[in-house]
Amino acid sequence: MKKIIAMLLTAAISVSLIACGSSTSTGSSDAKDTAAAEETASAEGAESDALADGKLIVGTNAEFPPFEYLGDNGEPDGFDMALIKAIGEKLGVEVEIQNMEFGSLITSIGSKIDVAIAGMTVTDERKNAVDFSDSYYEAVQYVILPADSAIAAKEDLLGKNLGCQLGTTGEYLIDDLIAEDGTTQKKSYNKAVDAVNDLLNGRLDCVIIDRNPAMVFQSNYPDQLKLTDGAVYGFEPEQYAIAMPKGDTVLTEKVNAALAEIKADGTFDKLVEQYIQN
Ligand code: GLN
Repeated sequence: MKKIIAMLLTAAISVSLIACGSSTSTGSSDAKDTAAAEETASAEGAESDALADGKLIVGTNAEFPPFEYLGDNGEPDGFDMALIKAIGEKLGVEVEIQNMEFGSLITSIGSKIDVAIAGMTVTDERKNAVDFSDSYYEAVQYVILPADSAIAAKEDLLGKNLGCQLGTTGEYLIDDLIAEDGTTQKKSYNKAVDAVNDLLNGRLDCVIIDRNPAMVFQSNYPDQLKLTDGAVYGFEPEQYAIAMPKGDTVLTEKVNAALAEIKADGTFDKLVEQYIQN
């Protein structure tokens, strides 16, 4: 029976990996998938401290549309919120959302919050502090520019005033550009929308931010702003995942199993269609 469940889970995970198009996961061998599925099956019935009270407290930063933003009722809404609620439903726990600064999310895991979902990119540095779920979305940094900007290549960014959201992978890319050319200036903002406003006011030459939020912000000012794909500047694809308490393998396995089910049963694709403009 366990073997059958493991095989079914392997199939579900393989389907989900194809659906996700994730570059980090596609390299896994069949043997690895089977091992992961068996681990998942064995996690059933085990307990995670984070779930013991029947409630999953989830941190986010609702400033990152379409993944998270404040809805009309003032509550966090968006793709990530819908995804984590669907995961909570599969796990049979209530999901409570806590809105906070992006830079506080990782340090709050294990104290104020159980997990964080915030269009968060998996990085080696973050992996020192938290574990990550399987990835659920592939992103890349985009560059938002004034419509008449001549910036069109990586060299054009050097020596300019570059804006980003504090503590994000966009900021890390700007730090790399500063290391290349010390005359490059960085301005980091708690809210991406404030960076976009400074771009519109002429205080910045560009804003570097993830693709989907960049599309949302630019679409509000189609005559004043334009977008360029970060691939033009050599920016690499990134993977979004849920940040989990370090070492809570039971919770991570349960969340991964729920995520795999949500991908296999079509819920994931429906949420993409509902929330994400491509
Ligand atoms: N993906 C980026 C990061 O993880 C930005 C996330 C965000 O601003 N919510 O750093």
